[in-house]
Amino acid sequence: MIIVLKSGTPEPEISRVSQEMVDLGLSPEKIVGKHKVVIGLVGDTAELDPLQLQETSPWIEYVLRVEQPFKRVSKEYRHGEASEIAVPTPNGTVVFGQHHPLVLVAGPCSVENEAMIVETAHRVKAAGAHFLRGGAYKPRTSPYAFQGHGESALELLAAARSATGLGIITEVMDAADLEKIAEVADVIQVGARNMQNFSLLKQVGAQDKPVLLKRGMAATIEDWLMAAEYILAAGNPNVILCERGIRTFDRQYTRNTLDLSAVPVLRTLTHLPIMVDPSHGTGWAAYVPATAKAAIAIGTDALMIEVHPNPAKALSDGPQSLTPDQFDRLTKELAVIGQAVERWPQAAAAAIG
Ligand code: PEP
Ligand code: MN
Repeated sequence: MIIVLKSGTPEPEISRVSQEMVDLGLSPEKIVGKHKVVIGLVGDTAELDPLQLQETSPWIEYVLRVEQPFKRVSKEYRHGEASEIAVPTPNGTVVFGQHHPLVLVAGPCSVENEAMIVETAHRVKAAGAHFLRGGAYKPRTSPYAFQGHGESALELLAAARSATGLGIITEVMDAADLEKIAEVADVIQVGARNMQNFSLLKQVGAQDKPVLLKRGMAATIEDWLMAAEYILAAGNPNVILCERGIRTFDRQYTRNTLDLSAVPVLRTLTHLPIMVDPSHGTGWAAYVPATAKAAIAIGTDALMIEVHPNPAKALSDGPQSLTPDQFDRLTKELAVIGQAVERWPQAAAAAIG
């Protein structure tokens, strides 16, 4: 349930209403929006009558029951206002959100060595990327496949960060590594295979770095939003949802089926920012440009694209990786769509400052 307060509600009144909710056995959560303050009520609200609650204060505009199983991530919880996730990077603060320019994340699937990660970082930065991605801990289907260089790769990501000023996004697989990953990463990725690792979700929810939550390969939209709810319920409101393709019956021509319709669907359900990853979504470099452009047109807030200096030699996900030259060309094409929907970074450089 949420209580939407009238604009200008005095602070002591907000505290008084919150205390009344505590007295009713509920946990009130104050959400300060641009125009209004909303009090989210967590706990057993089944027996409460919204109209009766409304009587508690003349400053209450309305009381609304959130019908969906996900509460904190629901659009209603923030009174329809989109979340803005501001991530400080050495190059300036980058904001993920519906009313901000598109955020570009690029880099190799895995961090292989210092030369390749630093070179890729320089190249993707020059093409306009805001974040460098790269796996140190890799979730691989086969235990015999390259598992990532682990801790030493984190140091290489830190080197690429200081060389370029790009923010870093890298994946956590094991909560035991979380602290050292958080020292280097500006955004912590939870991969598709861990989307329903609930203990990991609680742990990333209990730390401060923003979380990029990739959609599980067989996850419904509701499963995915419930996974995000775990992170918010644990105290971290900064979650970005990443559509990265789901399993369907055709694996001959595409690795996954990129569910672009998830973008407008999520928009109706949640205030959280949305990213699309056409690299894992299709599995083939040849299909990345078209799907990346479509993702911008359909309203994504960010794109994640795998880029490798020599895809043929990549230790993971070579077939879906663009070369730096291809990425450079692609960003010029993306700019056309981005400008058409008024989401291209140059159009609002103030957001990156
Ligand atoms: C990745 O980003 O390299 C990755 C493993 O992604 P996903 O979890 O979407 O498969
Ligand atoms: Mn990959």
